[in-house]
Amino acid sequence: MSESCVFCRIIAGEIPGDFVHRDEEIVAFRDINPVASTHILLVPRDHIESVQSLLPEQADLVGRMVLRARELAEQEGIADRGYRLVVNCGSEGGQIVPHLHMHLIGGRKLDDRIG
Ligand code: AMP
Ligand code: ZN
Repeated sequence: MSESCVFCRIIAGEIPGDFVHRDEEIVAFRDINPVASTHILLVPRDHIESVQSLLPEQADLVGRMVLRARELAEQEGIADRGYRLVVNCGSEGGQIVPHLHMHLIGGRKLDDRIG
């Protein structure tokens, strides 16, 4: 855990989070500044900084994050209409929190153009 990392502190219970999922590997909580009616962040418990610092042996973790996002989309009732999964990486990629996370966004028609 990184003491200076907001997501590590949410995972540790030091900052409140509106959790929708927790297991031994991945947690998911609602974004504090949602851009749509469903905006959930899927976050590995391990402090991995970004896609850039992912190791080959962590590929399965990313796969499980995607499958968990699909399950949460179903739970939110947006799976049939569609949704967007976003992983920002680095400053030009728009990553603000340097702890790997995947956004699950849905509940309205999203812009066709990304970026
Ligand atoms: P990114 O720009 O991909 O790094 O996304 C970081 C996201 O974390 C933003 O959408 C923020 O609104 C969200 N965020 C920051 N602090 C919190 C918090 N304490 N609880 C929930 N979401 C947060
Ligand atoms: Zn962290």
